[in-house]
Formats: sequence, structure tokens, C-alpha cells
Amino acid sequence: MQKNIVIIGGGIVGLSSAYYLHKAGHDVTVIDKGTISEGASFVNAGYITPSHIIPLASPGMIAKGIKWMFNSSSPFYMKPRWDADFFKWSWYFHKSSTKEKVTKAIPVIKDINLLSRDLYKEMLRSEDLGPFHLEQNGLLMLYKTEKAGASEMAVAEKAAFEGLEVRHLDYYELNNLEPNVTIDAKGAIFYECDGHSTPTEIMSKMLAYLKAHNVDIKTQETVEKIKVDRDKIQEVQTDKSLYHPDEVIIASGSWSGEMAKKIGANLPLQAGKGYRIDLHRPTHIKLPAILMEAKTAMTPMNGFTRFAGTMEFSGINPTIRKERVEAIAKAAKAYYPDIDITSEEKQKAQSGLRPVSPDGLPYIGRTKHCKNVVFATGHAMMGWSLGPATGKLVAEIINEEKTSMNLDAFSPDRSFK
Ligand SMILES: Cc1cc2nc3c(=O)[nH]c(=O)nc-3n(C[C@H](O)[C@H](O)[C@H](O)COP(=O)(O)OP(=O)(O)OC[C@H]3O[C@@H](n4cnc5c(N)ncnc54)[C@H](O)[C@@H]3O)c2cc1C
Repeated sequence: MQKNIVIIGGGIVGLSSAYYLHKAGHDVTVIDKGTISEGASFVNAGYITPSHIIPLASPGMIAKGIKWMFNSSSPFYMKPRWDADFFKWSWYFHKSSTKEKVTKAIPVIKDINLLSRDLYKEMLRSEDLGPFHLEQNGLLMLYKTEKAGASEMAVAEKAAFEGLEVRHLDYYELNNLEPNVTIDAKGAIFYECDGHSTPTEIMSKMLAYLKAHNVDIKTQETVEKIKVDRDKIQEVQTDKSLYHPDEVIIASGSWSGEMAKKIGANLPLQAGKGYRIDLHRPTHIKLPAILMEAKTAMTPMNGFTRFAGTMEFSGINPTIRKERVEAIAKAAKAYYPDIDITSEEKQKAQSGLRPVSPDGLPYIGRTKHCKNVVFATGHAMMGWSLGPATGKLVAEIINEEKTSMNLDAFSPDRSFK
């Protein structure tokens, strides 16, 4: 049955949902308060990472968070603030950071990542968006210290156990793989299962495809009120118009917690800010890499090289903190000594907000609070990787089909206690 669907949010998750819902024959409107040209889905590192099997909420993270709390240039930063939602989220994060919960999450994270990686490849093969940059050449985890190397080796063993392709590279093997660039690292863990892409390119091509196929894209339009009656959304009111959809998809990224409140639901979510610096000049780097000790990502994209990083919990704000941009530039130089990031490049840095759930798993599915809503959010550091899988799952839910994977772990109503 064809339905009239409103998607709130035009990031990778909202657009991927629109893509699959449109293909399933629905009448789709995407509403975004911005211009769909900035934010998390545009500034990310473009990794498609089945290797990221360990959620952020894992043993030891709280201790690190506290240690780094007062250092605003550290890679993981929680700004101390009086905010009931933040306290509650931090408590749930703490409750999720156990070995048992992480062990349970690993195969689920792997499965949805592999599904999404396949869907990106299928999208490319379909030529729906035309050609776009998508490579599966692997991801290097560069380490300078034995301690970082050993800690990633432990993750690699888990990944290998899950059937993911990963191997260790010593200094010489690493330099053989990247012969045209100087790397200052002892070695690397090489996740051959991972891919990378250029988010700005995919986002603009997806947007063009959707527009050309009569998906109604509303930009600079803010959803202000949602009227719920008899357990169903009856109206979505924006600053410009009024909608009466059959179904609503909440794909509003870091703003989804606020959106949930409008329908009487509680969705623990915090914004984890990150930054990117782009270098539009040859760097001769071929392979994407995470600079482990600095927790910085580097990606050779289509026509430029991107350095991205930091996870800053300071609420919803786009403020660019100079010390954090400096920390990323410093990390680049420390691992790639030939690369000097210029003041101009630093000045053009941009930020984006990752929607972070307390247990590192996304929220995908229906809620008991409202019958005609599907949540699609909370992907944290994996939203780019998981966009297509989320969109596909959303379409399957709306179509009342058997979903491509079990969704229990992603329930928006799950308990964190
Ligand atoms: C520096 C950085 C690096 C990253 N690297 C990677 C990576 O390599 N791989 C990976 O998988 N992930 C990565 N991520 C994470 C990934 O980018 C995010 O998880 C993902 O982009 C989230 O997408 P989204 O569609 O859920 O949210 P968003 O892209 O934030 O989109 C949500 C949209 O909702 C709109 N909206 C909000 N409220 C309203 C309202 N009231 N009315 C209308 N519209 C509204 C917003 O304007 C916004 O456009 C990275 C993130 C950052 C910041």
C-alpha cells in the first residue's frame, strides 16, 4: 500500500530512508531545517567500517572521559555541565560500558555494517546516483607505541574471530604499502574489510537522484510541533507548512532526542561533536588511516585529503574550538611529517554533531509511544557506514516485510538500566 511519508532530517540516514522508501513506491517528503550541505553527514571521514565492532561505551571509557574532562584539546572531551538529560545519558553510558554488553553488541554491529557495505556497493552498481567514489582498500590503524598496538591487536583478534579480514603490518610492510609518503609509526593493524568514500559527493548525488525522482525535498524548513492524537501523529507543523502524513521517520540526527519529546517518547541521545580539515592539494596518500594515539582519522577522498577527529560532548552547538582543530593538525604532522596544515586550511575547518546513544547502538524501529513513527538515529561514529542499511531497514518496517536482520538490539524503547 502506498503511504504518504514525512522524513524529518536530510542527513545520510534521512536521505537513505527516502531512497529505499521511494523505491518501494511511497510518496516521500524530506524536511530539513538546514540546506542539506553541512553537518555530520558532510564532514565525516567517509569510512565504511565493519571493523568498528567495539562501541564507544566500553570498559575504561568513563575513566578516560574523566581523565580528559578538563583538557579541552583531548580527543574525547566531556564538558562538565548541569543538564538532567546529560546526567541520565552519562549514567546509561556507564551502565552500558561492561564487557558483557560489549560482547553482545559486537556481532550485531558487525552484521549491520556488512549489510550496509553491501548496499553501498549495490547502489554504485545500480548507477542510480551515477558514478561515485567508493573503495574497499582497507583501513590502517597506525600506532606509535607498543601499548596502542597491543590494544588494537586485541580488537583485531575479536574482528578475525567474527570473520573480518585483518592483519598486522610491521614498519617495513606498512611503508611498502604507502611508498610515496613518509609515515612516522611503528606499525599498523590493517582492516582489509573496510572501505572509504567521499561523503560530500555521495550526499549531493543522492539528493539530486531523489529530486529527479519526485521525492519532495524541503530545506530551511524546521519541524516545530507534532500533534499526537489516539497514539498516532496527526500533524507535523513546520515554520512554513502543515503536513498530515501516514507515517513519520525521525532521522533528525543529534536533534532526535528533542524530536522524541514532541511525541512523548524518551530517547537518550547526546551530540558528539567532531571536526574536519580538508587539504585540496596532493598528499600522495593512498590508504585511509586512523592515527591511533591521537584518535584522528585521515581519508584520501575524491580530489582532496581529509583529517577528522575529536569527540566533544558539549551539547548542541556548532562552535569551532581552535584548540581542537590545532590538535588535529598536530596529529597529522606527527604521523605524516611531510604534511603541514596551513592556517588557511585550519580556518576552513568545519564541525558536525554525531548522534550518540548511550550503548553505541543506533535506534532503528517503532516505539510503543506512537503507532506511525519509526526512529532512525543514534548511529554515533558509524552513521556514515550505516546509512544505507538503516534506510533499507526503515523501508522494510514501513512495508511490514521481514527485516534484513533482527532489530531487537536497536529498539528505541530499550532499557539501559
Ligand atoms: C568528524 C566526524 C567524522 C565521522 N566519521 C565517520 C566515518 O568515517 N564513518 C562513519 O560511519 N561515521 C562517521 N561519522 C558519524 C556520521 O557522520 C554520523 O553518524 C551521521 O552523519 C549521522 O547522520 P544522520 O543523518 O543521523 O544525522 P545528520 O547528518 O546530523 O542529519 C540530521 C538532520 O536533521 C535535521 N534536523 C534536525 N532537527 C530538525 C528539525 N526540527 N526540523 C527539520 N530538520 C531537522 C538537521 O538539520 C540535519 O541535517 C563522523 C562524524 C563526524 C562529526
